[in-house]
Amino acid sequence: MEHIDVVVIGGGQSGLASAYALLRRGLRPVVLEASDRAAGSWPRYYDSLTLFSPARYSSLPGMPFPGGDPDRYPHRDEVVAYLTAYADRLGADIRTGQRVTSVRRARSGFDVALEGGGRLAARAVVAASGTFGRPHRPALPGLEEFTGQVLHAADYRGPAPFTGHRVVVVGAGNSAVQIAAELAGAARVTLATRGPVKFAAQRILGRDLHFWLTRTGLDTAPLGRLLRRPPAQPVLDDGRYRAALAAGRPERRPLFTGADGSKLTWPDGEREEVDAIVLATGYRPDLPYLAHLDGALDAAGYPRHREGIATEVAGLAFVGLEWQRSLSSNSLRGVGRDADRVARRLAARLARR
Ligand SMILES: Cc1cc2nc3c(=O)[nH]c(=O)nc-3n(C[C@H](O)[C@H](O)[C@H](O)COP(=O)(O)OP(=O)(O)OC[C@H]3O[C@@H](n4cnc5c(N)ncnc54)[C@H](O)[C@@H]3O)c2cc1C
Repeated sequence: MEHIDVVVIGGGQSGLASAYALLRRGLRPVVLEASDRAAGSWPRYYDSLTLFSPARYSSLPGMPFPGGDPDRYPHRDEVVAYLTAYADRLGADIRTGQRVTSVRRARSGFDVALEGGGRLAARAVVAASGTFGRPHRPALPGLEEFTGQVLHAADYRGPAPFTGHRVVVVGAGNSAVQIAAELAGAARVTLATRGPVKFAAQRILGRDLHFWLTRTGLDTAPLGRLLRRPPAQPVLDDGRYRAALAAGRPERRPLFTGADGSKLTWPDGEREEVDAIVLATGYRPDLPYLAHLDGALDAAGYPRHREGIATEVAGLAFVGLEWQRSLSSNSLRGVGRDADRVARRLAARLARR
């Protein structure tokens, strides 16, 4: 069996930032990526997506985000190109088409099993597999009885297939509001939420919010350890989403109370024919390969960790978790800091053994 210093699971920004940090500490990581390229889930995000963070706040360590205006909000495809170039430059051993199916304890570290039957021995493991592979589908009233189309935002690409349809988008976060507003240009759309939508201004006193987050230290304040679960984030808005909701495109309603065939029932008793429900209800850490590693996950499948270092499994670490350490942990601008902390701890551990 091949023996490796550190196996990094996932070749997205978190895995690449981890590899960068581990290489700098003299370790030889191997990045295992399930898909055919090292660009994370970005190629699978919806077509119109632009970053909520300006280019100057969207870089990984060692390579600034390229292109002219650092204050522009890059398109999804620019992020894909950036990560692809980052991976090419890294000089790390990145193996695509390699899905990890399980990580188990072995005498000198871990036994990492791959889809197709391969196995690797690793002294340490960094789980950097993101959340996009595990869309959260909450139990909603009547959803099981609804006979129309139900899809998660993870499967939404653009409005064209919904032209002229009646669509309900469920959720109050950034993706929910962005998708509902985009769909409203082609379809009749309701944004169904449990409570009011909360907004945060994209620009304050002429500067992007990220300038203020960085300047005040809020971006990196180690608040993650105080939170049991990531709190809901407000919708970042330059004014257009607030205006769209005010204009009823999309309209907002409290969540439906039931369904019968292709009809939804609203809290006021109205029953209405609906073609599709889009669940923009978030994601959960995608770590099924740790299910047999005692103590790695809690009963809900969340990792047991402190600032990315597994609390119950020595030699295991996480990178890219929401609020892993701070507000910026799960972002292009912040993941490198967490990766560096994790790499420092793993390097110290491997040097001792
Ligand atoms: C719609 C949306 C918009 C966002 N906008 C921004 C933004 O503007 N700015 C910002 O900074 N952040 C943004 N984020 C947050 C974050 O930066 C992204 O979610 C980012 O893709 C997270 O990177 P990651 O590497 O942690 O996970 P991912 O990008 O999901 O990458 C994980 C990788 O792991 C691989 N993988 C999974 N399981 C396995 C396995 N078992 N074996 C091997 N490989 C595996 C996957 O194939 C994938 O390539 C956004 C997120 C979303 C969902």
